[in-house]
Amino acid sequence: MADVRLTEIRKSFGALEIIKGVDLSIKTGEFVVFVGPSGCGKSTLLRMIAGLEDISSGELTIGGTVMNDVDPSKRGIAMVFQSYALYPHMTVRENMGFALRFAGMAKDEIARRVTDAADILELGPLMDRKPKALSGGQRQRVAIGRAIVRNPDVFLFDEPLSNLDAELRVHMRVEIAKLHKTLKTTIIYVTHDQVEAMTLADKIVVLRAGVVEQVGAPLDLYDNPNNTFVAGFIGSPR
Ligand code: ADP
Ligand code: MG
Repeated sequence: MADVRLTEIRKSFGALEIIKGVDLSIKTGEFVVFVGPSGCGKSTLLRMIAGLEDISSGELTIGGTVMNDVDPSKRGIAMVFQSYALYPHMTVRENMGFALRFAGMAKDEIARRVTDAADILELGPLMDRKPKALSGGQRQRVAIGRAIVRNPDVFLFDEPLSNLDAELRVHMRVEIAKLHKTLKTTIIYVTHDQVEAMTLADKIVVLRAGVVEQVGAPLDLYDNPNNTFVAGFIGSPR
């Protein structure tokens, strides 16, 4: 089980409170999308779940275990960022296996996981290439592959497609939807792209200045926005 539960989560940087008491309940296997304007705290919230940022107050549980003070590597999560720095001197295969090798996993288990991930992402023909010989979309697939091999309970994506051109973004959006269907893992996905949110999400969380404005299925939010802010974000093109 990988239910993710946030209770009264707050975050301050110095005197400035950025996340102002967020309550959220995410079920195992759910695809949840955080949307909201730039600076509203989407990345900060994700980084707290990942353990890359301390939680000022409140409680985070994953699979029923309190995670506030648990090391990032022991939370059963894997994160994919917007800037997917691959190791330039390593092949795709080496890039995908590196974290596992670093963690001391057996060679044949690493090979098996890398091959499985490569199959899912259709990276097979590219495994011996270096990153500079890949397109932007292929690189992003390798970055997702690096997350898959860790076999996480929860995937965290922070605007993973925003560096790609429009056509590739559409393609990768389909890939990510397929990935969720295949792996059935919990996914928490940050985007400011309304179309991504509407098409990928089981549930959308609309954030505004560190506060959850509304949570609901895409069409619920579209049809019944709580206020003009939500309507502006979900209801109409912007
Ligand atoms: P989003 O991802 O929604 O664009 P962020 O979570 O990155 O927003 O940032 C939310 C707010 O917190 C912004 O005002 C940002 O400047 C501030 N912030 C983020 N990280 C830090 C930090 N390490 N120190 C101080 N302020 C920060
Ligand atoms: Mg951000």
